[in-house]
Amino acid sequence: MARHTRTWPELPRPLDGTVMDNHTHLPIVPAQIPKANGFAMPLDEQISAARATGIARQVTSACELPDFAAMIELASTYEGVRVALALHPNEAALHDGCVEPSPDGLTPQQSTHHIPLDDALAALEKALDNPMVVAVGETGLDYFRTAEAGRDAQKRSFAAHIDLAQHKGLPLQIHDREAHADCLEVLDRAGNIDIPVVFHCFSGDAHFAHELAERGFYASFAGPITYPANAHLREALVAMPRELVLVETDAPYLTPVPHRGSPNASYVMAHSVRHIGELWDLPEDLTCAQLMSNSTRVYGEW
Ligand SMILES: [Zn+2]
Repeated sequence: MARHTRTWPELPRPLDGTVMDNHTHLPIVPAQIPKANGFAMPLDEQISAARATGIARQVTSACELPDFAAMIELASTYEGVRVALALHPNEAALHDGCVEPSPDGLTPQQSTHHIPLDDALAALEKALDNPMVVAVGETGLDYFRTAEAGRDAQKRSFAAHIDLAQHKGLPLQIHDREAHADCLEVLDRAGNIDIPVVFHCFSGDAHFAHELAERGFYASFAGPITYPANAHLREALVAMPRELVLVETDAPYLTPVPHRGSPNASYVMAHSVRHIGELWDLPEDLTCAQLMSNSTRVYGEW
């Protein structure tokens, strides 16, 4: 019997409203597009599919120095696309020279762009002044992909990103991988934060959702909220005040059900939006309106 071949997800029924994919990674070069059944869906097609489905706006994150200029350039060629820039926590560790094998068994490699962390932060600060940039992200802590030796660099970089975001008046997108308590500790230590703070691809439970809500932070839900095993994410969504909930793809990863295992793109996010509406027990048009008004409050209009 032939092996089941994955294809790109079919176009979902258009949403009864418009929403923003507040965190995705658009491919800068075609080679970055994953293939399904030998086919890489061109970016133009991905974006028109998103618009046809009701995904009106996208925030695309570049979190390695060499990608900043190219991502800004890409965003300026597509209506509805804006940019988030940061040094990813795993990049922060590399800028600081940490190449210890990580808990997930990989050995990180430094490359020529891994200049000292302070120089990288200075380059980021400059890049943030571009008008296409609407957020600082993703920054935070990753205890899965970086060894303990890299944690200090991650915390130092995270704190510097908080300062930069405050200074520039930009919202902050946080990457929190197996580091819930420490992420909150770094944020709490920063004191009075007067910019929107978004936990991108929220991975905590209802208790952690309360911790965020208490501080007025946002939780952004991606495809994993649709996975059968993730009851804790559905409980967290329900525990979160609706005005603090955002939706994202984190594409090309984390494709929602019923297309798990296929490549992800913003147009596929309609499935996550519908799932959130069901959990809220809210009609689709009101679900979209709530999510879009939350996104606009955080990132502004364009
Ligand atoms: Zn991401």
